[in-house]
Formats: sequence, C-alpha cells, structure tokens
Amino acid sequence: MAPPFLVLDNVTAGYGQGWALRNLSFSVVAGEMVGVLGPNGSGKSTLLRAITRMLPELVGRILLDGRPVQRYSRRELARLLAVVPQETAISFDFSVEEIVAMGREPHLSRSPLAPLIKGGTVGDRRVVAEALERVGLSGLRRRSVHELSGGERQRVLLARALAQQPQMLLLDEPSSHLDINHKVELFDLLSQLNHERGLSVLVVSHDVNLTVEYVSRVLLLDDGRLVRDGSPAEVLTKSTLEAVYRTRVEILDSPWSGAPQVWPIPHQHAPSPLPGKEGCHRSPLPGGEG
Ligand code: ADP
Ligand code: MG
Repeated sequence: MAPPFLVLDNVTAGYGQGWALRNLSFSVVAGEMVGVLGPNGSGKSTLLRAITRMLPELVGRILLDGRPVQRYSRRELARLLAVVPQETAISFDFSVEEIVAMGREPHLSRSPLAPLIKGGTVGDRRVVAEALERVGLSGLRRRSVHELSGGERQRVLLARALAQQPQMLLLDEPSSHLDINHKVELFDLLSQLNHERGLSVLVVSHDVNLTVEYVSRVLLLDDGRLVRDGSPAEVLTKSTLEAVYRTRVEILDSPWSGAPQVWPIPHQHAPSPLPGKEGCHRSPLPGGEG
C-alpha cells in the first residue's frame, strides 16, 4: 500500500464565526481518486480551502507528503497541489492561453534571466499547449476569458491546474456548468490522469451518479462533519442519503459497473414524508456514527 499523500488529523476549521468543519480525519493515498459529497453548506469547499491554507482558523494537522502544509512555501505547495475552484471572477481581460500559462508560475525559473524568456521556456509552452489540448480548448486559446460560456471557463480552470503539473488535483464542482458530454469527458480525463500519471484526485461534486462511476472511495460530509468514508456501495445507501439530504431516494445499480445510482423521489411519489423534514431536528444517521 502506498504511503498517504494527504492526511487530515482531527481538523476543525472555520472563518472566524464558529466552526465550519469539525474533527475531520482521513487520508488519501498517492494515486487515489476520491469523491467528496454532501449537501449545500456541508463544508466541501471549506475542506478544500483548509487543505490549501486559505482559512483564518484551523486546529489539527494537515500533512502533505509527510510534511505539515504550513511548512511549505506557496510555490512549493503549488507544485504539489493544484485547485480547480468552483467559480473565479477573472477581472482582467486575459486570453484563455494566458490564464492557462499562469499554471506554470510555480515552475518558472527565478534566475535573473527568467524575465527575458517571455512566456516561459519551450517546455513551459509545450505543457500549456498540451493542457489546452486535453480539455479541448486549443481552438479557443486566443479568445478572451470574458467571451466564454460557463462550461468553457470551467475547462480553462482545469487546463490551468493541469499546466501546474501537480501531484494532486483538488476540484470544486468542476462539472456543474458542463453538459452531459463534457461531464463525461471531464471525468474520463480525470480518470486517465489518475491511471496514467498516478495523479491523486479529490473531487467535490453534486454529480453523484457520475462521480461514483469513477472513484474508488467517497467522503460524505454533513454539517461540517465527515459522516461516512468508504466505497460508493458502503456510503451511498438509502438510509444514509435520506438522513443527510433530507429527501426520499431510491438506490439502483448502474447497468455498466454496478455502482450505486441515486434516484431522488419526487414528493408526489414518495411513500411517506421524512420525519422532521419541516422541523428543526434531523433524523439520526443510521449506524450511529454521525
Ligand atoms: P459547501 O461547499 O459544502 O456547499 P461551504 O464549505 O461553502 O459548503 O460552507 C460551509 C459553511 O461555511 C456554511 O455554513 C457557509 O455558510 C460557511 N462559509 C462558507 N464560506 C464562508 C466565508 N467566506 N465566510 C464565512 N462563512 C463561510
Ligand atoms: Mg461549495
């Protein structure tokens, strides 16, 4: 078994107004592809921010490749981890290619001659071209990022992260603006990078059914806590999901892989309302853990 690449040890974190994450412990082995699921506001984005040291308050330990994250310089961290954020306002009028080239920043030489090599070395430019190719945006490389659809912008951010050549990718709802074709392409690409290069992947997604076709493991967050950590079949059970998402669901098996597929049941077809749905108390999570 490979050593853990990322370790969270009893992490509690927040924004300075109460804790948004509480007592999280898990680890990700190098080369693993893990999905992060959970309702809106459950702490998924906060978890990614904790790992990348963007939170004002954090107790507990986060280790990357055996070393506490706070001991890395920003530049060192960016060579290990790349983030595909949920949405980013890009205020300047950069071209697609310029944004992707920013991913090379942590690798650029710091020699006094470096500014003379405009746009990086031949190697840097090749990495940028490859990243654009992999997300299918070579044809749009000179286009301003302000003239793109939401889905195209999402793929630019992925290409920038690939150009960073990290060992681990953290993605925050990377498929939310994509059509079904591009959703499948995105997950296929993540899976290829994971298999070919051993890239570790931690992907937050509400595309539950697609995610579990690709990941070997799922972390389920609810109200800032990690309530389940296991294989898709262990985590995506009817009782767990009904308790966490407060809605009736049915679980069917994927005809391709047998992975669990979640079908929300519309209220008019639900067998009975969930207890406490309208009230303030939550039904207890089965298994006693949460
Ligand atoms: P998710 O990504 O699962 O939808 P978030 O991690 O964004 O959830 O949010 C978790 C909790 O942290 C929520 O209660 C949210 O209101 C709070 N939160 C998120 N971002 C901030 C912020 N910048 N400042 C203060 N609280 C925040
Ligand atoms: Mg979020």
